[in-house]
Amino acid sequence: MSKSKPEHWPGMSKKKFHRIGKYVRRRADDLNLRDWTIHLLHEPLASDCEHAAEITVTYGRAHASISLARHFLTYEPAVQRETLVHELIHIHLDPIEARFRRRGGDGSIWAHLGDLAAGVIIDEVHHDIERATDAIAHAVALGCPLPEFG
Ligand SMILES: [Zn+2]
Repeated sequence: MSKSKPEHWPGMSKKKFHRIGKYVRRRADDLNLRDWTIHLLHEPLASDCEHAAEITVTYGRAHASISLARHFLTYEPAVQRETLVHELIHIHLDPIEARFRRRGGDGSIWAHLGDLAAGVIIDEVHHDIERATDAIAHAVALGCPLPEFG
């Protein structure tokens, strides 16, 4: 999640922001996330961030926050659609990664592995989940209407 101070967001208006929020809500409903509260953050990602968007899923609660790249509105509609679907699919896969991130106490397998091995495994899991999310999002997005955020 971006911790940057509120800044001007080039090209973003209240109306466009509202349209994006509505689009996200509809896709979330399509993706069986009806009971989830999905918050679109009012600030873009930091300009040095390479991601088109990011999602933070709150562990143990049906709540997630999505941050968009500063230049999100300049992307082609098909890219915007796939980006948003990608972030929403992360919600379904997050428990897998979260299980690894939580690790467990001294008696857990993680304590035997040590920080280095644990870090490598967590990185690998993260990478695999990212690839799976990309592949699923690519396929699912094709079945979603193209956005028109203006
Ligand atoms: Zn991702």
